[in-house]
Amino acid sequence: MTEFWVSQKRHWCEYCKVWLNDTISARSTHENGVKHQENVARKLREMRQKGDAEKKEQELLKQSWSSIEAKAKAQYEKDIQAGHVQVPGQQPQQPGFGGKHRQDQAAQRAAAEDAADKAIKASAEAEYRLTGGALSKWEPDAGSGYLYNAALRYYYDKNTGWYYGGDPPSWTPNPPIPEVAKFSQYYQQPDAEEAANPPPLSHAKGLGTTRRLRQRPRARRRSQRPLRGGGRSK
Ligand SMILES: [Zn+2]
Repeated sequence: MTEFWVSQKRHWCEYCKVWLNDTISARSTHENGVKHQENVARKLREMRQKGDAEKKEQELLKQSWSSIEAKAKAQYEKDIQAGHVQVPGQQPQQPGFGGKHRQDQAAQRAAAEDAADKAIKASAEAEYRLTGGALSKWEPDAGSGYLYNAALRYYYDKNTGWYYGGDPPSWTPNPPIPEVAKFSQYYQQPDAEEAANPPPLSHAKGLGTTRRLRQRPRARRRSQRPLRGGGRSK
């Protein structure tokens, strides 16, 4: 009995989901049949449509990124005009003393860092308002063991800090996704207890946003409160 099955080779037709006798004549009869050719044509059509739909989705996503970035930039410029943000390089120079000059440089560097922090924060807030944080939502993916971002269709490997995605998909430490959506920018490892009981947002001054957010990694995603708002009431 066993020998019978071994000797009868079978061929699986992926398009028709049927087994065929694996002989040249049986296969060519099947492949020239109307049913098989219809199935092949349908499969190709489906693949094409799926590709089109994915392209369209990527296009929409890209548009929403640029709108987020534009809004963040507008907010940032408003902040500069309102005097909330120090523009780097616009502090009065006091020439003559080397020590003073070094101090100015340090102050400028700090101002630039602060401005960059504020820009990141502003775009994070804009992203959150527009999408409910979907762009930066990273969920554990049981199948792969990585974190998965459904909105961006990127995987993230916590061990290496690399991302997998794009078209064609590949691994990279610097994926073309918005800064605010990057995993390492804001989150640490998922923590069930903290997720159930999110800490309040921190607005402590003096620490860089990126560092601060790393210390309070889950606040931004879980809270309904916008990022800005505290620490500015004077
Ligand atoms: Zn077939």
